[in-house]
Amino acid sequence: MELYKDRNTQVLLNKFLSGEISELHPIYDSKLGYRYPTIEAIVGDASSAESFLKKLYVGGILERTLFDEVIFCPKCDSSSISIHYCCPYCKSFDIQKSSLIEHVKCGYMDVEENFHKMGKLICPKCQDELRRSDLDYRRAGIWCTCKECGKSFDIPVAALFCRDCHGNFTYEDVKVKDVYAYRLKKEAKEEAALGWILIAPIKEFLAKNGFQVEGPGFLKGKSGANHMFDIVARKGDAAEKVTVIDLATSNDTGVTEQSVIALFAKMFDVSPEDAYLVAIPKMNDNGRRMAELYKIHLIEVKDQKDATRFLKEELLAKK
Ligand SMILES: [Zn+2]
Ligand SMILES: [Zn+2]
Ligand SMILES: [Zn+2]
Repeated sequence: MELYKDRNTQVLLNKFLSGEISELHPIYDSKLGYRYPTIEAIVGDASSAESFLKKLYVGGILERTLFDEVIFCPKCDSSSISIHYCCPYCKSFDIQKSSLIEHVKCGYMDVEENFHKMGKLICPKCQDELRRSDLDYRRAGIWCTCKECGKSFDIPVAALFCRDCHGNFTYEDVKVKDVYAYRLKKEAKEEAALGWILIAPIKEFLAKNGFQVEGPGFLKGKSGANHMFDIVARKGDAAEKVTVIDLATSNDTGVTEQSVIALFAKMFDVSPEDAYLVAIPKMNDNGRRMAELYKIHLIEVKDQKDATRFLKEELLAKK
């Protein structure tokens, strides 16, 4: 739950919920490797993008799938690595790769080059022309010949080459880093969408009525701490007159006084002009008493439609 209150998380959730992102893919940069530009823009710097994503993954908000694997040179840490396919006998990568062709009628099999004759495919054994793929002939895999030692083989061995330090090594030696694509988890989507669905129409209504609205909004308190509210609204040019609104939902027994206490703690630091707590579907008795004591406008409504209606009456009544 704490994660959801983080401003950066909120911004990312909004991108997922609004459909701006459905799956977050890393973008490959030949100098810097894989990056997540959307995340970098949210968190402000490239170095913390991955730890931010990891936090949301561990926290159960995002799910991930393996997108790619980055291989690093064991000598110089470069990720500019190429694969050399080598001769299994002498390890040279100076090999010739050919396709194998089988003439169906006579059964003769050889590398494709030996069938090439004056722009046609002619069987070197029976001199028939091969016209139709899959009928006259079929491709039967590949065949490699080493230009160094002259031996032939069907499966080359892979070796890795560092383009920066020119080192040669094998998979055994390398460091491997997994790179992921991320999606919003279904459960998180439902949870976040609830808040989004509740807040969006209220924001819209306030904006229509001349408020400058932020949701979620952040206000700096006297203590220097930043506090997040579900909605922060300012009326016209009176920038110092700030209205804050928090929403609290509960499915059965009613919202507990915890949400009243949490809102009061923030109000104490920020001193807004007005503070509203929208409790859906209702507040418990303790919370009701505390809200009155702390001068929090408590709005108990059964759903978001009612919340918008009640806020309308309250806020418009205050000119
Ligand atoms: Zn060889
Ligand atoms: Zn033939
Ligand atoms: Zn290297």
